[in-house]
Amino acid sequence: MRNDEVPDGTLKQARANDICERFGLARIINAAGPVTRLGASLMSEGVIAAMGAAARCSVDIGQLQGRASEVISRVTGAEAGIVTSGATAGLLLGAAACIAELDPLKMAKLPDSAGMRNEFIVSRSHRNSYDHGVRAAGARLVEVGLPDRIAGCGTRDTEAWEFESAIGDQTAGILYLARLDSRPDLASVVRVAHSVNIPVLVDAAAELPPAHNLRRYIEDGADLVTFSGGKALGGPSASGLLCGRRRLVGSALLQQLDLDGTFENWRPPSQLIDKKDFAGVPRNGIGRSCKVGKEQIIGLLAALNQFVEVDDDVHNRRLAAIVNALVVALTDLPGLGVRLADDGGHGGTPLVEVVIRAGAGEPNASQIASRLASASPAVQVDRTNADHNILMLSPTCLDAADAVEIRAAFAAALATGP
Ligand SMILES: *Cc1c(COP(=O)(O)O)cnc(C)c1O
Repeated sequence: MRNDEVPDGTLKQARANDICERFGLARIINAAGPVTRLGASLMSEGVIAAMGAAARCSVDIGQLQGRASEVISRVTGAEAGIVTSGATAGLLLGAAACIAELDPLKMAKLPDSAGMRNEFIVSRSHRNSYDHGVRAAGARLVEVGLPDRIAGCGTRDTEAWEFESAIGDQTAGILYLARLDSRPDLASVVRVAHSVNIPVLVDAAAELPPAHNLRRYIEDGADLVTFSGGKALGGPSASGLLCGRRRLVGSALLQQLDLDGTFENWRPPSQLIDKKDFAGVPRNGIGRSCKVGKEQIIGLLAALNQFVEVDDDVHNRRLAAIVNALVVALTDLPGLGVRLADDGGHGGTPLVEVVIRAGAGEPNASQIASRLASASPAVQVDRTNADHNILMLSPTCLDAADAVEIRAAFAAALATGP
C-alpha cells in the first residue's frame, strides 16, 4: 500500500452515487463527520480492495483474529487485540470479559450476572448513551463524582479518591471515557484500580487522530481500550478494535466467536487463548450477536495499517486543504462568520465553525441546518453548537471540491425568511 494513499473520498462520486440512487436514496454531502447514521467513514481504494479480496476466501475466523491480534499489538503496544463490530461492541465484549474472565459457565449465563462481580464504576461526567454496551453485558453502572465544572457552578469533576471509595466486593471494573478534557486523568484512575486488582476499560472510540492515541491509553495502564473503525481510522462502519491484556481480550474473543464444534477439533488462536485452560468448548457467548465477518476484520486491519503508515502531517495537510477550501468558499456570504476551530493543539481533526448572524426574522442555526439537510444534494452539518448559533463542518468525509456545492447550499438556505 502506498504511503500517500489516504482515505480521500477516493470512491469516485459518480460510482458512489450510482448505488445510492439505485436504492432511491438522495445524495448526501457529509460535513457532519464520520457518524454511524450517515454511513461513517469513506474507505480508501486500498481498504475496499482488501475487503473485496477477503469476500472471496473461506477462512478460520478464530485464526484470523489471532493474526489480527499480532497486527493490533504492534500498533497499540497492547498484549493482544481483536477486531469487533464497533467500539460499542468493544464495550460489551470488554465488560463481558471483566465479568466472566475465562469461566465458561459465567460466559454462558451472561447477561444474567447474578452471583458474579458485575459492577462498573464510572464518573457521572463520563456517562453517555454508548455505555449501554457495558450494561448489555450484564453489568450495573455505579456512578461517582459530581461534575460541577460541567454544570457551570464549580470547578471540580470526579476525583480519584471517589473511585477508591466506591470499589467493593462487587466491582468488576472501572469504565473510563477518553476525551481531551476527561477528568480525572486516566493514569490516576489506573493507580487506584490496580492497587486492588480491578481492570480499567477505556472507551476511546473517537480519539483518533492523533495516531499516537492508539498507544497512549495502554501506556497509561488501561487494561482494555476500544476504538471505532468507522471514524477517522477509515475502516468499515461496522468495525472497531478492542486491545489490552491477553487474558481479557482472549475472554472477549471467546464470547464473540461462533464456537460450534467438538473439543478435539477446536483450534483456538494461540495468540489469544490457551486450549489447556479449558475442559471443553465454551457455548456461544453474549457477543455472538455482534459477530464480525472476514471482510470487516481484514478491512479494519488494512485501514489500521494505512492509518499508522501515513504521517499525522499527511493526514493534517489533507484535512487542512479541505477546511481551507470551505473557509474560502463561505467567507464572503453575508450573514455568516467563518473561522477555523482550534483543536486544542492535540492533533485532533480540524473543523470549520460557521457562526450564523441571524437578524430579526432571519433563520437561526437550527433552521439553516434543517434547510441544508433538505436541499438537493443534502448537506449534513454538525449541529452540536447550534444553540449558540454555530454550525460546524467536519472535513473527514469531504473532498475539497465539495466546497462549491456547500457554498451554494448555504447561499440558498440563507436566502429567504424562516
Ligand atoms: C462513536 C462513539 C461510540 C460508538 O462507536 P461505534 O464504533 O459506532 O460502535 C462509542 N463511544 C464514543 C465515545 C463514541 O464517540
